[in-house]
Amino acid sequence: MSVNQQAHTGPPYGQPQPGYQGYQQPAYGGQPLPGVPQSPYGAYNGPMPGYQQPVPPQGYFPSLGFPSKGCPVSLNSDTSLAPNFIGSLRAPPTSEAPPPASGVSLPSGHLAYSQFGQGDVQNGIPTSAAQMQRPPASQPFPPGSAPSPIRQTSAFQQYGPTTAGVQQLSNHMAGMTISSAAAAAPPPAGLGYGPPTSVPPVSGSFSAAGSGHYTPYTATQGPPPTSVSQDLPLAQPPFPGQPMPAQRLPAPAPGFPPPPSSYPPTTVASRPPAMPGPPLPGQTVAGPPAAQPNHVSSPPPPSAMAGPHSGPPMRGLHGPPPPTHPAQPGYQMQQNGSFGQMRGPQPNYGGGYPGTPHYGTQPGPPPPPKRLDPDSIPSPQLNELPPQQKPRHRIDPDAIPSPIQVIEDDRSNRGSEPFVTGVRGQVPPLVTTNFLVKDQGNASPRYIRCTSYNIPCTSDMAKQSQVPLAAVIKPLAALPPEETLPYLVDHGESGPVRCNRCKAYMCPFMQFIEGGRRFQCCFCSCVTEVPPHYFQHLDHTGKRVDFYDRPELSLGSYEFLATVDYCKNNKFPSPPAFIFMIDVSYNAVKSGLVRLICEELKSLLDYLPREGNMEESAIRVGFVTYNKVLHFYNVKSSLAQPQMMVVSDVADMFVPLLDGFLVNVNESRTVIASLLDQIPEMFADTRETETVFAPVIQAGLEALKAAECAGKLFIFHTSLPIAEAPGKLKNRDDKKLINTDKEKTLFQPQTSFYNNLAKDCVAQGCCVDLFLFPNQYLDVATLGVVTFQTGGSIYKYAYFQLETDQDRFLNDLRRDVQKEVGFDAVMRVRTSTGIRATDFFGAFYMSNTTDVEMAGLDCDKTITVEFKHDDKLSEDSGALLQCALLYTSCAGQRRLRIHNLSLNCCTQLADLYRNCETDTLINYLAKYAYRGVLSSPVKAVRDALISQCAQILACYRKNCASPSSAGQLILPECMKLLPVYLNCVLKSDVLQPGPEVTTDDRAYIRQLVTSMDVAETNVFFYPRLLPLTKADVDSDSLPAAIRNSEERLSKGDIYLLENGLNIFVWVGVNVQQGLIQNLFGVSSFSQISNTLSTLPVLENAFSKKVRSIVSMLQMQRSRYMKLIIVKQEDKLEMLFKHFLVEDKSLSGGASYVDFLCHMHKEIRQLLS
Ligand SMILES: [Zn+2]
Repeated sequence: MSVNQQAHTGPPYGQPQPGYQGYQQPAYGGQPLPGVPQSPYGAYNGPMPGYQQPVPPQGYFPSLGFPSKGCPVSLNSDTSLAPNFIGSLRAPPTSEAPPPASGVSLPSGHLAYSQFGQGDVQNGIPTSAAQMQRPPASQPFPPGSAPSPIRQTSAFQQYGPTTAGVQQLSNHMAGMTISSAAAAAPPPAGLGYGPPTSVPPVSGSFSAAGSGHYTPYTATQGPPPTSVSQDLPLAQPPFPGQPMPAQRLPAPAPGFPPPPSSYPPTTVASRPPAMPGPPLPGQTVAGPPAAQPNHVSSPPPPSAMAGPHSGPPMRGLHGPPPPTHPAQPGYQMQQNGSFGQMRGPQPNYGGGYPGTPHYGTQPGPPPPPKRLDPDSIPSPQLNELPPQQKPRHRIDPDAIPSPIQVIEDDRSNRGSEPFVTGVRGQVPPLVTTNFLVKDQGNASPRYIRCTSYNIPCTSDMAKQSQVPLAAVIKPLAALPPEETLPYLVDHGESGPVRCNRCKAYMCPFMQFIEGGRRFQCCFCSCVTEVPPHYFQHLDHTGKRVDFYDRPELSLGSYEFLATVDYCKNNKFPSPPAFIFMIDVSYNAVKSGLVRLICEELKSLLDYLPREGNMEESAIRVGFVTYNKVLHFYNVKSSLAQPQMMVVSDVADMFVPLLDGFLVNVNESRTVIASLLDQIPEMFADTRETETVFAPVIQAGLEALKAAECAGKLFIFHTSLPIAEAPGKLKNRDDKKLINTDKEKTLFQPQTSFYNNLAKDCVAQGCCVDLFLFPNQYLDVATLGVVTFQTGGSIYKYAYFQLETDQDRFLNDLRRDVQKEVGFDAVMRVRTSTGIRATDFFGAFYMSNTTDVEMAGLDCDKTITVEFKHDDKLSEDSGALLQCALLYTSCAGQRRLRIHNLSLNCCTQLADLYRNCETDTLINYLAKYAYRGVLSSPVKAVRDALISQCAQILACYRKNCASPSSAGQLILPECMKLLPVYLNCVLKSDVLQPGPEVTTDDRAYIRQLVTSMDVAETNVFFYPRLLPLTKADVDSDSLPAAIRNSEERLSKGDIYLLENGLNIFVWVGVNVQQGLIQNLFGVSSFSQISNTLSTLPVLENAFSKKVRSIVSMLQMQRSRYMKLIIVKQEDKLEMLFKHFLVEDKSLSGGASYVDFLCHMHKEIRQLLS
């Protein structure tokens, strides 16, 4: 127990702000903290070069039409311009351009056109120009988001105030017996207690590590293998006349072998090869498991969690653990999230299994009544079962841990005051809670979140618990406007002060000694001289007197201006460049995409990222179009018209022009506009369907190399690149591989070509963002390799249709172009002695074991870092992390961003379990599993996840929970959602795809999740479901969320579900006509169109409220969510139900209740 755990006393940040939505009230911003001078840094840093507060409003309001800021004039591709264009094509290269080399086909007369496919090039007014009206962008950056609209979207959750009374569930969920020991109505032949061994494991089986013990019951398989009896919570009087014979479950027979006396660490971790459990009639014990590494990554770190698992399998463990309190009648609450209850004497456990006559004859308290509430009504699935197989009781879903309740509790408990980071090891509020952060020496949770804030002192303890120690780091996270961006510290030519030995950067935890002349490193203990220019006297407490004047001494996060020593080739970098590379093959042109992109770029180029208050962006831009060949454009400002240069030899890509390819937008405005007008015309009649891909990236890379700068490629691509060229791909999609050992190949690139290309890109700082518009398989797993390894983003718009998808695409594009991004980035995480970073997850490249390299790192990307012990830690000194990110800003400034975090260390497991964060744990586990599918069968990955979580919970039960009977499921308070969230990960499309999920979808999701922050994984795996018809139209708040289960939906209501990628609006069949009229503008349910991609704008309170909720949610997410209207009992409802993650899924995923039972069984087996 650490003294640091005490809650800080809330500093006087003004009055509590109950309403507190969106932080529109500046009450917390800018108020001084006690003891902190009010403007601490201004004076000290002098000129503060480069440090700028958030970018001033840029006024990018597409819905208002683009501001005419320097709007290009006479950009129409009228006929008078066209000849010029052709003329320039015919002309020899300008003197600036290199002479045409072999392979450069400089257009010459009409012959030139052949390079575009037969007569592709056209000029003149587009015949379909009318289509090119600006789409009514649905409030992407509405007014009010003025200061840097992007900053408001990520990380910062604008939830409404917490709504009381949604579900007033007891934290402890006492009284719930989740007994996996016996079925209420066991099928005659032992069905339901695990498959007969003759039944092969079904896909989607829960079988953990070859236990062969648990198979999901499908409709054909009878009742759940574990059946559950429902006991009433606490002291409800018995309900006479309703005997509950199955509620008294048989207890373990005394004759079963006791748990191994050597239970602790290693045996906990070992999975029994077969978990025979109670001897079941007709069930034979499954054979030994196939070698089942817990770790499925490649390559598994030797000291990874695999350790204990690779031990010899335990054999001979039979039956559930003996009851620790065999004869305690009555109900007792467990202190820490107990879900069970004490049961009466149950002497004959073994005999109590299928077919047992003992039910109902056990002594003990009278059976409590079945609770009469709607939730006890068997679900439809259960109704479908033959009557004799129906479990007579099921767990009341209201009695198991509710994500909604946990979220609401945290909001009401922690959302009202700022999170002050001055205390070591403090667990932050949940990501779903609105809170402000005050940096007092530790990095904000917006930058770093940990799986645990109190880490075991020894590796043995860590292994025993199996709790992964990981930090989810988002180094460039956007902050809400009320919070202060990291200050930029400039130490001049000498650069940042660092430890001589481990090179850690000066931070609040360095200890100054000898009157301030030296400092001792908090990471490695080495003593370093304080440079003369940095010397300062110490006060009587040993603190430097300039403590509060220096961000690096008093804050958790800050930046240093890097010196030339931190630059490639000892040269300060040039400003980065953006290159737009547009697929102009048949599909891209035909769908209107090319025109849409060109039209959008004309205005979007005015909103390139700018540093601070700079008047214009330093970023230069270039343009390429391509199909089977590449077309480069010279848009030099001195030209009257753009010039095109074609490279048809794609085997050895080079850039045919240097001068005039990358230009300043303002200087070349007219030429660029002319180009963007003409591109759609030139390719309007193309018949070229084939594309290349790798040469496109190579071209961008070569251009950046030639310009000696870092940058980003924006590639808009439509099809599998089958044209003859390096990186050519074939269609190798094969869904038959699902659930085979070869399934992993679907996630792997089909050629290593792209890995090598990625390496080159990283070396140059060439980040690749990919916008995909496939109408069929295009191998995301391969095309995404370079994007992934360069820190880029992938966007996928399958079956892109202008009408329905352009809003989403344009909003994504706008945000992607405008968002804060660092280039040529290298991140290193240093740790204090005793632990070290051993594994990394995210979109990056690593050429050694410590440095995470990213050609580009934007404000949405996270890197998850896992830590292992290499020595003992001490409770006194705790553990420290320092994340240092070296990057080039959008203006070309080289900087170091530093985040520090101090954690507690513990010698008691209970302290570990009290300071965990399940959302972060799930983020880690999902990324771990999603990497695992690259190298292991998906089933093995799922089994390993279940196994690890069972061990985590079993260790808690064994070591931390108060003694209780085995029939109780006891979960640590802060991990009580682990089972429900884990189940969501297991059921996700990557790990358990339904028939409708494509191979590309899975590869895409796999990549997305790998870069997600904790808030994003939280809502992705457990979507937010809001009853719109319960919304208060007069307030700004959101309606209280409900749990993701069909049982919670009422036919008379309308609901919204969002998961960060999509928004569904579900309409019940019995919704009042008036509501339908108000929201959809039609008079009946049947008239609602399910092809709407936006809600109609109607002048009534309900419509306004719903639209404001939708746009508010859009603002919160890093991607624009597609809106899908779902009518109850309509075809699309299947898609929607996929996201009701507490229910059984069509692809075989278990319901929450069933999974909880399964976890309980797993835990019991570990404890036995
Ligand atoms: Zn050091």
